[in-house]
Amino acid sequence: MKVSTTIADTRAAIAKARAEGARIGFVPTMGALHVGHLSLVERSAREADFTVMSIFVNPLQFAPTEDLSRYPRPLEEDERLASEAGVALLFRPGVAEMYGAHRTITVTAGSLGSRWEGKSRPGHFDGVLTVVAKLFNIVQPDVAVFGQKDLQQAALVRAMVHDLDMPLAIAVSPVVREPDGLALSSRNRYLSPDDRRRATLLSRALREVRERFDAGERSVHALEEAGKRIVATESGVELDYLAVIDQRTFENPDVAESGNSAIIAARVGSTRLIDNMTLGRNDQD
Ligand code: AMP
Repeated sequence: MKVSTTIADTRAAIAKARAEGARIGFVPTMGALHVGHLSLVERSAREADFTVMSIFVNPLQFAPTEDLSRYPRPLEEDERLASEAGVALLFRPGVAEMYGAHRTITVTAGSLGSRWEGKSRPGHFDGVLTVVAKLFNIVQPDVAVFGQKDLQQAALVRAMVHDLDMPLAIAVSPVVREPDGLALSSRNRYLSPDDRRRATLLSRALREVRERFDAGERSVHALEEAGKRIVATESGVELDYLAVIDQRTFENPDVAESGNSAIIAARVGSTRLIDNMTLGRNDQD
C-alpha cells in the first residue's frame, strides 16, 4: 500500500493506475477504522481494481462544541488495517493541504441537508459535501463507496453527484453491527462499559419499529411512538430524534411503506450516536 499526504502525489499515483487500465474505487473516511469501514473496502474491491482510501478528520463538518480535537486518530493501526484490507493507496492529508489560505467556496446541502442530522448539527452537511466534492476532484474515482450507517449523508452525496453532474457512481453498503446490534462507529470508543450496554437501545428501538411494520402497523405516528417507548426504558439515553422517513427526501410520511427507513439519533452519556434500519426489507440489517 502506498501512503500519500499531498494532493499532487495522490493524483500521480492514481494517474499511473488509470494508465494501466485500472478502474478506481474510493472509500472516504475519518479513520479510527473498524470492520464497517473495511466492508466498504471489500465493496470497492468488487466494483473496481484499485482502491483509494482517504483518512481526513474534516474540521469543516464539526461544530465548535463537537469532538474534533478528541476524535480518535490511531494512525499506525489505521495504516495496518487499510493495508490488510487491500487498499492500494491511502491518502492522509493534513488540514493545510486540504484547506489552504483564501478559501471561499462551500457546497450547500439545501433542504435535504436541513432535516434531522442537519437540524441537530447546523452546517454539518455543508462541511461534508464540501470535503467530499474536493476529494472526488482529487481522486476522480469511477465509483465511491459510502455506508448506509450515515443514511442522510449517503442521500446527500447521491443528490450532489446528480445535481452537479459529477461523473462517478455511488455505491451504498449495509450497516455493519456488533453481535448485540450496536452499529459499529468510531465514536463507540468513547463509551464507558455502562454506556456501551445502554447504546444497544438504539438498534433495539429500530428493530421494534421494523417488527411492528412487519406485523402490519402502517401509522408512522404509532411506529415512532413504539420506538420511543423502548428508548424511554433506560435512563442515561437522551433521544434527539426517532422518525420514519422517505429515504430519498427524508420527509415524514403519514403512512409508512416498504423502503422507508426508521432513523434515530441519541446521546448515550456524552456520546452522540446515530443508526437506521430499512422497513420491509430484511436483507439489509
Ligand atoms: P466515518 O469515518 O465515520 O466518516 O465513516 C466513513 C464511511 O464509513 C462512511 O461512508 C460511513 O457511512 C461508513 N461507516 C461507518 N460506520 C459504518 C458501519 N457500521 N457500517 C457500514 N459503514 C459504516
